Amino acid sequence: MHIVIAAQRRRPLDGARPEVDKGVMSDPILRFDVVIAGAGPAGATLALALAKAGLVVAIVDAEALETRLAPEFDGRAWAVAWGNVLQFKALGVADALEPHAQPVTHILVSEGPMPAAGAAPPRSVFLDFNSAEVSDETGGGPLAWMVENRHLRSALNTALEAAGVHAFAPARVVGLETDARAARFRLHDGRVLEAPLAVAADGRNSRLREAAGIGFHGWDYGQTGVVATVELDTPHQGVAHEYFMAGSALASLPLTDQRASLVWVEPTARGRALADASPEAFEAHLNRRFGPALGRAKLTGPRFSYPLGLRSADAMVGARLALVGDAAHSIHPIAGQGLNLGFKDVAALAEVVVDAQRLGEDIGSGLVLERYARWRRFDCAAFAVATDGFVRAYGSDTPLLKAVRGAVVGAMNRSQGLKRAMMLNAGGLLGDVPKLLRGQTL
Ligand SMILES: Cc1cc2nc3c(=O)[nH]c(=O)nc-3n(C[C@H](O)[C@H](O)[C@H](O)COP(=O)(O)OP(=O)(O)OC[C@H]3O[C@@H](n4cnc5c(N)ncnc54)[C@H](O)[C@@H]3O)c2cc1C
Repeated sequence: MHIVIAAQRRRPLDGARPEVDKGVMSDPILRFDVVIAGAGPAGATLALALAKAGLVVAIVDAEALETRLAPEFDGRAWAVAWGNVLQFKALGVADALEPHAQPVTHILVSEGPMPAAGAAPPRSVFLDFNSAEVSDETGGGPLAWMVENRHLRSALNTALEAAGVHAFAPARVVGLETDARAARFRLHDGRVLEAPLAVAADGRNSRLREAAGIGFHGWDYGQTGVVATVELDTPHQGVAHEYFMAGSALASLPLTDQRASLVWVEPTARGRALADASPEAFEAHLNRRFGPALGRAKLTGPRFSYPLGLRSADAMVGARLALVGDAAHSIHPIAGQGLNLGFKDVAALAEVVVDAQRLGEDIGSGLVLERYARWRRFDCAAFAVATDGFVRAYGSDTPLLKAVRGAVVGAMNRSQGLKRAMMLNAGGLLGDVPKLLRGQTL
């Protein structure tokens, strides 16, 4: 027997079993306006945007939400592009983030020699992105805020609770069913969550995408991204550095308190060795390879490693299902744009859904979902192609390839118009920009 319980607004998020589920029978159906699988940064931000606009939202995650606040959980830090900072301002999260956010005012991209002990550090800056060049569009804001994942998670958890989002965590979505009226998530413990619209925000290996029969294309790069946080002995002055070498790269992204988040990309075997090396050996290798350019860097915590690949879903929507974030597209972290694309999905989907709800439309209908897919399709594909092209252009050091990329990048650096367009596009400030990315509420 299925007993139906109508979910109510303003239910507290308790990190475990929500109140709505207490003392009920074996197989209840809980009803919402929107159900979201995955409380990563994309899913959580979407849940918040929809709940703040008055929708009744459930979010499910396989991990307990508080687990992610520990520094050992995920050492990544995000370069949150300015448009997405405006989105957090509109959602009321920016005040909690700001004390932990390091503004990025400059991004310097250099090409260095192949790594070798004692090799000269990469010096020649060939791409220079300066926030002053787009200050008319950003109101004097920086290019991005660097925010550590744990601080973003903490701010989002607090905001989700205040907005009355129903959290089911830890809980796994193990099945998706849809019919003409609704979509249903089946959880591992038999509970069923139903809504006119379901969202897959369950990451690059999305189970929901697979359950909906949506294929993807993509490949693995045979590379590992090793992430570490370091203290610097030289002031970083809000400058993010990206050094490229054939087959490998290092990003040094400024954090608060004179620290930096390093993303060191190497072929898989070398990446594993870096992640497993003793802290002393890692620091020595880092300082030997990048020392004079980076200053002396000292590890402040554990290292994390991530296999790198490209995944692009064949469709951004299915029957009563929308894909956001890495479930729709997962790209190489070389340009720090993966999550920013996900935040742009969130802003577009939230606007489409809230507008449809206010007009009395069926928010999970093909007509409504196609508006979202049309809005996001081109941008996602363009970033995937551009990032992949960049990775391939720096994948080898043959003289011809070096000469061609040197000429192309040199021309890009001299073209103020092109650089400005790249900065505005990466910042989510170019084209048909959703309201949240302009800092407006829904
Ligand atoms: C080394 C590295 C550095 C990066 N740096 C940047 C950067 O600076 N800027 C940037 O924009 N991007 C960056 N990215 C990309 C960024 O990490 C991803 O785009 C982002 O994490 C995707 O967020 P998401 O919410 O879509 O998915 P995820 O963060 O993968 O979250 C998915 C969630 O779904 C949950 N889940 C999965 N399956 C289920 C299920 N069956 N039931 C319930 N829950 C489930 C998981 O527990 C998880 O919490 C980087 C990536 C890497 C690897």
